[in-house]
Amino acid sequence: MLLALSTWSEIETFLQTSKTVVVPIGSNEQHGPTGLLGTDWLCPEIIAHQAQKQSDNVLVAPTFNIGMAQHHLAFPGTIFLRPSTFIAAIGDWVRSLGAHGFERIYFLNGHGGNVASIEAAFSEIYADYSFRGMRAPFALKLKNWWDLAGVNALANRQFPVGHGSHATPSEIAVTQWAYPETIKTAAYEPQIAPTGPIREALDFRARYADGRMGSDPAQATPEKGGELVAMAAKALIEDLAAFSAEQAPA
Ligand SMILES: [Zn+2]
Repeated sequence: MLLALSTWSEIETFLQTSKTVVVPIGSNEQHGPTGLLGTDWLCPEIIAHQAQKQSDNVLVAPTFNIGMAQHHLAFPGTIFLRPSTFIAAIGDWVRSLGAHGFERIYFLNGHGGNVASIEAAFSEIYADYSFRGMRAPFALKLKNWWDLAGVNALANRQFPVGHGSHATPSEIAVTQWAYPETIKTAAYEPQIAPTGPIREALDFRARYADGRMGSDPAQATPEKGGELVAMAAKALIEDLAAFSAEQAPA
């Protein structure tokens, strides 16, 4: 079930049987010469949307699609939030969902650079309850899509060399599966991109001329993406069931 394609009364009814909601979260940033700008929010959205097709228990909120990407700003199309804005916005998303009675709010993340700030946002939210000596009415969970059960192992088998850390063949394969009409090709030079540190935008562009880090996206295929989505959607459904079943201590 997609929150954006539901009515308020359908959400009210859903809350009578489930208090769990998934928020895909990512980033809108350059992904090399062939990767879509939306890759990091498209991947968790594609997986979450697939999961809700397979299970009536899965409700997916709108995708939080702008994240931590200041280092990509020297490439056109990148849009980012600074950490303070991002953390504040996550807080308001969570408090809005919590106000309706959602007790399990699961962020399915598609951008490694978001992890520290999402964890900081959770801590800011919980701090309000801790200072007041109150129990939080909801539990928050962060999961990267590649950390869903079996997914990393599958990606390692599919791409044993040249997976890299940015504009990776696995994430590009997922978008190719969902949006085959957008598949692009390029002559990569070098075939496997360099690796190194991440600093500010001009430093990043100087180090990583075409935007990739350590990756060879030419290995991506829609078929491999479909395998990753199937594995991830199944694992997401199971992980959500376990999260929903968690009991708070007395
Ligand atoms: Zn990415």
